[in-house]
Amino acid sequence: MLFARLGLPHNWRARAQYTLLESEFGEGLSFIRLWERWRQEPTRPVRLHFVALSPSLVEAPVLRARLRAQTPPEVHDLVEQLVRQWPLNMPGTHRLDFEELDVTLTLAVGPVERTLPSLAAAVDAVLFSDHVENAQGPLASLWQKSLPRLARDPARLWLALADGQIVQGCQPSTLSSAEHTYSVTEHMLRQPEIEKEQRHAVVVGAGIAGAGVAHALALRGWRVQVLDVAHRRSQAHGGHLAAALTPMVTRDDDIRARLSRAGSLRAQARWSHVSQEVLWRCGALQLERVSGRIVDLAGVLEGLTLPEQWVRYVSCAQASDIAGLPLNRGGLYFPSAACIRPERLIEALLQTPGIECADVQVERVEKVNGQWQVVDVLGEVRAQAPQVILASAFGTQALLQQSERLNQDARIAAMHQLGGEITLLPQQLLAGGPRCIVSGDGYVLPSLDGLCAVGSSYVHGAQQIETSREGVRGNLSRAAGLLGRPELSELFNNGESHIASNQACAQALMGWAGWRAVLPGRLPAIGPIAHTEGLWVATGFASRGLTWSSLAGDLIAGALSGEPLALERDIMDKISQT
Ligand SMILES: Cc1cc2nc3c(=O)[nH]c(=O)nc-3n(C[C@H](O)[C@H](O)[C@H](O)COP(=O)(O)OP(=O)(O)OC[C@H]3O[C@@H](n4cnc5c(N)ncnc54)[C@H](O)[C@@H]3O)c2cc1C
Repeated sequence: MLFARLGLPHNWRARAQYTLLESEFGEGLSFIRLWERWRQEPTRPVRLHFVALSPSLVEAPVLRARLRAQTPPEVHDLVEQLVRQWPLNMPGTHRLDFEELDVTLTLAVGPVERTLPSLAAAVDAVLFSDHVENAQGPLASLWQKSLPRLARDPARLWLALADGQIVQGCQPSTLSSAEHTYSVTEHMLRQPEIEKEQRHAVVVGAGIAGAGVAHALALRGWRVQVLDVAHRRSQAHGGHLAAALTPMVTRDDDIRARLSRAGSLRAQARWSHVSQEVLWRCGALQLERVSGRIVDLAGVLEGLTLPEQWVRYVSCAQASDIAGLPLNRGGLYFPSAACIRPERLIEALLQTPGIECADVQVERVEKVNGQWQVVDVLGEVRAQAPQVILASAFGTQALLQQSERLNQDARIAAMHQLGGEITLLPQQLLAGGPRCIVSGDGYVLPSLDGLCAVGSSYVHGAQQIETSREGVRGNLSRAAGLLGRPELSELFNNGESHIASNQACAQALMGWAGWRAVLPGRLPAIGPIAHTEGLWVATGFASRGLTWSSLAGDLIAGALSGEPLALERDIMDKISQT
């Protein structure tokens, strides 16, 4: 019945991708049925993308019970796969992948007035529910206005109405000319289909951003060459013992908060294969601040509809209990936040089949006969491919400049870099260290290899960056403030203390120093370089490289593979302004 309503298999024959939008996901019955048919059909498209709107999500056990009651036992395995990835009930875009990414489910959760305009997808068919089909007034006009924008080809858009009627093609666009202005997101969604043998990309930069992009492309069957300067790469994160992957919240759930939520969720899903020694969920406390810009953290949560499994307010006693150390204030607790060994994570991602790494200092890129040539400092072409992604942090600006592709009005032209360092404190100085990330003004991470990473400093205008006594002092003072242990500030005071007079101990404290590439507004740049074909960037990750890396990878690799994007359009419109 569902299959016939969608005009299948005829409508997906000879297609590499087929994307369906369902107006209301409900309990997911259509998704399970379509997925099951896709598995059986010899003429199926290579990849099936199911996009659906849902005002909210039921809990996973409820979904399981309802779906099992309505489906035959043969598909219960699919139900289980869906339930295993089922997200928490949070507004935004949730991406679930099945069948090694050949089947994707994109759930847009929230009120339809918000989710429909912010869908970033190009769809072939729409499956309507009764409720939407019979709608009058604003809901009907919202759909009318949205369909031409969402259709991959408006003349061929297949509309399956709830009463069994089928309409092909949608009304011409009612958008005003102002709404029709060129959007980079639109350009990303309408990439020409890339033949299998053309799926070859070069990624410049093997840091956190480059590894995320290379991994996402390789998972989609791309051949990826990753180029980096070996000694610089080892400097980039060698000694960066541990880092934090934490979401953030703001009272109005602004773009940065939504992006951090999307990024954290993507990282949890995409990196779920990584060993617990490299990435482990330890949770994070964000303590109330006692100086500077004080925010009422309990009040921040009041207007938000976020589940307790994602974030909750905890008292001082509860926070101490969670951290396993006496703390002197409460704050927000994010149970799914994680600690990561950056260098080992990068290594693990770059070992994905399909990725080759080479030691090259890239000077510039240039387009020759439809291929991007990647040229080193000696002027030699070291790689070429139809797609190049510059993920070289602050170096991206110089690369674009040297390639004569840097528009002076572009966000990347205004990128700058900020130095900083972490300090490694022997765990015995912190009674074994906290069990979770403790943050606020700075952070203290749980012990790893007997050391707790404390961070981090922000150094403006530096030409070179290295660990310093000043940096250590600053970090110790952050740890002292967070843990309510003023004596920690004294540990390193000019030769008077035990630590400062003990050279070995002082050396151990010197942790790691590195750079952050920062764009105006502290939002990353993820997308194509305007008015070029095949040149992309993933840069400007500031202090949130771990939160944004896997999402950046999925956005670029997803666009190149014709997928719906795993992020709302309004956020995409900001970050894709490169
Ligand atoms: C002290 C400190 C603490 C931090 N803590 C955290 C934390 O807890 N959590 C978090 O999420 N983030 C943290 N960050 C931020 C995080 O490190 C960055 O966001 C992240 O490294 C950005 O990733 P990237 O790949 O863009 O840059 P990098 O990881 O710096 O990688 C860029 C790579 O590009 C290469 N490259 C550059 N130019 C060229 C070229 N011309 N040719 C070839 N290769 C090139 C470089 O060699 C380098 O390997 C911290 C940063 C600092 C400084």
